Amino acid sequence: MQKPEALLHIDDLMSFMDASPVNFLAVETIRRRLENADFERLDQSEAWHIEPGGKYYVTKNDSAIFAFVAGNGMPYDGFRIISAHSDSPGFRIKPACEIAAAGKVLKLNTEVYGGPILYTWFDRPLSIAGRVIVRSNDPLHPERHLVKFGRPLLTIPHLAIHFNRAVNDGNPLSKQKDMLPVIALINDTAECNDYLLDMVADQLGIDKSDILDFDLSLYDTTPACLVGSNDEFITSGRLDDLSMAYSAMTALLESAECQMTKVMAIFDNEETGSGTKQGAASPELDYLLRRICACLGGNDEDYMRAVSNSFMVSADNAHGIHPNYPEKQDPTNHPRLGGGPVIKINANCKYMTDADSAAVFRVICQQAGVPCQYFVNHSDVAGGSTLGNILTTQIPLRGVDMGAALWAMHSVRETASAIDHEYIIAAFTEFFNC
Ligand code: ZN
Repeated sequence: MQKPEALLHIDDLMSFMDASPVNFLAVETIRRRLENADFERLDQSEAWHIEPGGKYYVTKNDSAIFAFVAGNGMPYDGFRIISAHSDSPGFRIKPACEIAAAGKVLKLNTEVYGGPILYTWFDRPLSIAGRVIVRSNDPLHPERHLVKFGRPLLTIPHLAIHFNRAVNDGNPLSKQKDMLPVIALINDTAECNDYLLDMVADQLGIDKSDILDFDLSLYDTTPACLVGSNDEFITSGRLDDLSMAYSAMTALLESAECQMTKVMAIFDNEETGSGTKQGAASPELDYLLRRICACLGGNDEDYMRAVSNSFMVSADNAHGIHPNYPEKQDPTNHPRLGGGPVIKINANCKYMTDADSAAVFRVICQQAGVPCQYFVNHSDVAGGSTLGNILTTQIPLRGVDMGAALWAMHSVRETASAIDHEYIIAAFTEFFNC
């Protein structure tokens, strides 16, 4: 039986999840915690002054965040990096989103982001969060405001079974027809005009005419919680990949000073292939590491030596063996919930892990006193990819792909093991205690 006292971080992890309903808010939650721990914000458009042992962070597009503790060794000593991603699959609200629908109902037009399991979004108490762009005196630099409504505002009502008796035999869904959320009852279609903008302006206390654009998404307002007769499981939206972002941040905050530079890299847009300036396919991390090396007095050769001396843990969650579908997993490598961090390996290099980097991570887990396990795809299943192999097209880093074992990846609510997160934080802290 699991000992609840061993779950030191789990309440904090759940608070973190609840405070982070979308990518922009996740970055803001991390940013605040870094500020509370005396990390200094750096602006990419200005000159940097970095002291050995100093703590710094930088954001990109408000939706990616990179924090580091500068090493107190030589510029070529290299980096210990943990990467994760801030985004999760879901629904983004389209411009001109109001639709007057049958029954004097106002619904909102949305577009699917990434690959959510669509039917898990039905009949939930949903709300809205994200970023709003507001007019300033400088056309190239409008103001950016974060917004989170907090209270339930919308739901996507499912069709009653009486209108589709075959619903439980498989029910194909249209993203455009079946998945639109309702937000209000109206008397007149004129009420639809700027309905959302009025709400946003009200929430932010600004003039509607100053709102230029927005990046707003839906989220489930149901808080994270533990389930299981011994609180074995954590269930929450967005465990993929905010539980790894939380673990990386916690290890960065709790680990000791280091000769090498410790880096936490939280990218956006992993769920759509990482191909944005704030995604892992951009040269953002290369620029950051190169710049840290230069600010610590290194030259080009020092940077290349630093990259060669570095190691990255690419942290993104993995599929735990499912009690109802064990046949979906590889016959000999099927990670289980509660079995510790999962090393992900793929013969076709969808993961950056190789025998050398897996060996490094296994020893780190051993030193931290935590178990670890492997995930390999069932050979007839294509599987997914993640940050690690995309990052190595930009920087030739040694590293490992790993994560926590999870059920229902990309459901609006995913389930993982509580103790696995303690194991992973312990392993990450050991990695950063270099
Ligand atoms: Zn992920």
